[in-house]
Amino acid sequence: MNTRRGTGAAAPHRVLVLGAGYAGMSAAIQLAARTKGREDVEVTVVNARERFTERLRLHMVATGQRLAELSIPELLEGTDARFVRGWVTAVDAEARTVRIDDDRGLRYDTLVYGLGGVADTTAVPGVEEHAYTLDGAQDAELLADRLARLAGHGGGTVVVGGSGLTGVESAAEIAERHPELTVVLLGREEPGAAMHPKARAYLRSALERLGVRVRCGVEVRKVLPDSVELADGEGVAADVVLWTAGTRTSPLAGAAGLTVDERGRVVTDATLRSVSHPEVYAVGDAAAVRQPYGAMHGTCQSGMPTGVHAAVSIVRALRGRRPRPFRFGYYHTPVSLGRHDAVVQFTRPDDSPRRVYLTGRRAAWYKETVTASPWPTWGRMKKMPASGALWPTGGRFTRIRRAR
Ligand SMILES: Cc1cc2nc3c(=O)[nH]c(=O)nc-3n(C[C@H](O)[C@H](O)[C@H](O)COP(=O)(O)OP(=O)(O)OC[C@H]3O[C@@H](n4cnc5c(N)ncnc54)[C@H](O)[C@@H]3O)c2cc1C
Repeated sequence: MNTRRGTGAAAPHRVLVLGAGYAGMSAAIQLAARTKGREDVEVTVVNARERFTERLRLHMVATGQRLAELSIPELLEGTDARFVRGWVTAVDAEARTVRIDDDRGLRYDTLVYGLGGVADTTAVPGVEEHAYTLDGAQDAELLADRLARLAGHGGGTVVVGGSGLTGVESAAEIAERHPELTVVLLGREEPGAAMHPKARAYLRSALERLGVRVRCGVEVRKVLPDSVELADGEGVAADVVLWTAGTRTSPLAGAAGLTVDERGRVVTDATLRSVSHPEVYAVGDAAAVRQPYGAMHGTCQSGMPTGVHAAVSIVRALRGRRPRPFRFGYYHTPVSLGRHDAVVQFTRPDDSPRRVYLTGRRAAWYKETVTASPWPTWGRMKKMPASGALWPTGGRFTRIRRAR
């Protein structure tokens, strides 16, 4: 057992949470609440910014809408958790240290890896140089400035690359906020491809109503300063390109020698621990988590439970108990279509669509309620940790059958 030099007292167990997004914050608050007053545990949270990035609202930021100031250190007040603002530049999984801004080092006994993901700007030439992304608040603010200038000069064309849900929400928001701009949504799949046909048809008609030109079944080959080039050689004029197609994660985990998948996500066991380094838990978009129905995809709805589960497991392990398997079943896909319309597709635990869906103002209200819920959830969790530890576990969809 470690001892504090000179005192003979046992050194505290150091838990380091990297990334205070939806998953990392859930882990940090849950841990802070469950270890409050304990001298044998030390919780430290590292994040690039003090202000919480509401990633679910970045398409709103990109159209100039102002968001609430949500301070991570303020939320942690009243707990014993420490906040460190900084950019993680390296993880040394053997020495169990993390480098911050290249010149500071932090040690850990247990690591919670929650650095999230960003748009994949590497797969298509020109994206890195010429396209905007919604990776963080600053990226979204840069796009907001550009769109405001373009609209102020009488109009222009915005191409949104990627017809997944982030692309759909962004195209709708830009078209609603800047009716003088032409918005073109380009992608392989039909918008709302995974939805029930009726919900998908609603989504398509809402995009049409907003004036979004949808071109699906196309492949972008290159992004140029003033256009995008499709696989068949056709050029689509673009004053601005927003890239939302595909995601990748930070190379830090792979560089540290942790087992990662092809997108750089940390491969976890059933309890969310790294398969190569069990003292590392991976959560949110940075984790490759499997359920009996298949690989989970990155969402806030699943990311928050992974964070809470990791925290509960760490507290169990500190008591000498084994962590439990993580079980999660999806229940909805809420998609905003501007500020007054939305589609909420209810799903089975494996994320396949049910027949039930909401549209219009009721759906917009539902979407807003869900989007606004994490911050108050964490406020409650600080006082009552068990209040954040409830989510649909997926029933038979996630039950592991044991061989008889
Ligand atoms: C416009 C948009 C709309 C979306 N809408 C929905 C939706 O409606 N529903 C849904 O479920 N999902 C939605 N998503 C996806 C959702 O935002 C992600 O799945 C979710 O944010 C994942 O949470 P996370 O904690 O893993 O990562 P993040 O929320 O991305 O948090 C990662 C944190 O780590 C920090 N970080 C990263 N690298 C470093 C580093 N090297 N050093 C220090 N800090 C670092 C980041 O600053 C950030 O604070 C949307 C995404 C976008 C872009």
